Amino acid sequence: MNKILIIGAGHAGGSVAALLRQYGHEGPIVLAGEEASPPYQRPPLSKAWLKGEATGEGLLLRPESFYAEQGIELRTGVTAMAIDRDGKRVRFADGTDERYDVLVLATGSTARRLAIPGADRPDLLELRTLDDAEQLKAALQPGRRLAVVGGGYVGLEAGASARSLGVEVVVLERMDRVLARVASETLSRFFTYLHRAHGVEIRTGVEVSAFEDGGVRLADGSLVAADAVLVGVGGMACDTLAVGAGLTCDNGVVVDETARTSDPSIYAIGDMTSRPMPVYGGRMARLESVPNALEQAKQAAAAITGRPGPVPEVPWFWSDQYDVKLQIAGLPTGADRQLVRGDPAGGPFAVFHLAGDRIVCVEAVNAPADFMGGRQLIARATPVDAVKLADPAVSMKAVAL
Ligand code: FAD
Repeated sequence: MNKILIIGAGHAGGSVAALLRQYGHEGPIVLAGEEASPPYQRPPLSKAWLKGEATGEGLLLRPESFYAEQGIELRTGVTAMAIDRDGKRVRFADGTDERYDVLVLATGSTARRLAIPGADRPDLLELRTLDDAEQLKAALQPGRRLAVVGGGYVGLEAGASARSLGVEVVVLERMDRVLARVASETLSRFFTYLHRAHGVEIRTGVEVSAFEDGGVRLADGSLVAADAVLVGVGGMACDTLAVGAGLTCDNGVVVDETARTSDPSIYAIGDMTSRPMPVYGGRMARLESVPNALEQAKQAAAAITGRPGPVPEVPWFWSDQYDVKLQIAGLPTGADRQLVRGDPAGGPFAVFHLAGDRIVCVEAVNAPADFMGGRQLIARATPVDAVKLADPAVSMKAVAL
């Protein structure tokens, strides 16, 4: 009976372990991760959990008892150090090692660090893990001032949660708009306005040059005073193990549509992978999202148990800030124009990215029907009537040509 070893007990690792049993794998499964907690969900760490609206128990992907009940050996607090591909063993930092027939890597991503003076200060905050979130939460006392370096999703969500706790927030973004790498200009304008309306100071086009006592030094020499500093400048694939083992890596571990790496006995899933996007002609992408982790967990579990793989999904993502729900489906790859449906100044709206007469991406703000409809039209590559699409009075079903 094949023994399956999963390294990384996060969203992808926890999911693939459960799916392997669900798909009928009867052999041993070992799920080993370096964090102390059983697999948990990270999205609430910057949202409901940070605001005190969710408990630690509520974060768990599955109750702690699930793993023993399913015959899954869960090893927490263990860090994998090296893979011996010839001997099919993984060595851990505590000196133990584990044999495998099939290895699944699910080590996620790590926070990018800035190479500037003070970047190694122990009081700097980041937000990837429950431990990080606990430190951030402790710093969010009413009346204190939080500087958020980086206007990406994690920074903006944490900023919104901090505001709801009565904390003053300043966001420092190097680009000329927030969410510059991940969203349209319309969306960036909307979120800038939203945060400013909630009292957040948003400063774009500013270069952080050092972290110091009392705040953040900018390249123009000024000091942005802050009691706490959260750095959220993106993530990097946590692929050290894979690189060390000689697996093909290129901005993440390169996998195919079954989540298999360049070694047929090793799969990789989740944030750490560079994966093909069948809906976008097989283009490779590294995605950091829960739906991606789940889709690849299904791909790997299906391939390992000899089942047909899942139908390729349109990638999607969500973000919650204040009372706004943003949902994004697709990638703006190859888009030649954008079209707005609804009212970006006040009401629900969606930005559609079109390539010719086909939607390739939709960014929907408090507009779940536009998100759902857009996602289906992307999946089916259905040509649409742009005039109808721009008119919120026309249903998403009626926009297809
Ligand atoms: P992870 O869940 O990060 O798990 C990887 C695990 O591997 C970690 O526990 C890590 O400690 C462990 N590990 C790493 N190296 C080793 C090693 N050598 N040995 C043993 N263990 C190791 N996605 C959304 O879709 N929507 C959201 O709203 C959203 N919000 C987010 C908010 C925050 C604050 C964060 C941090 C992420 C958010 N995400 C969101 C992203 C989402 O959580 C990730 O895409 C998802 O967790 C990826 O799952 P994963 O298993 O690949 O990685």
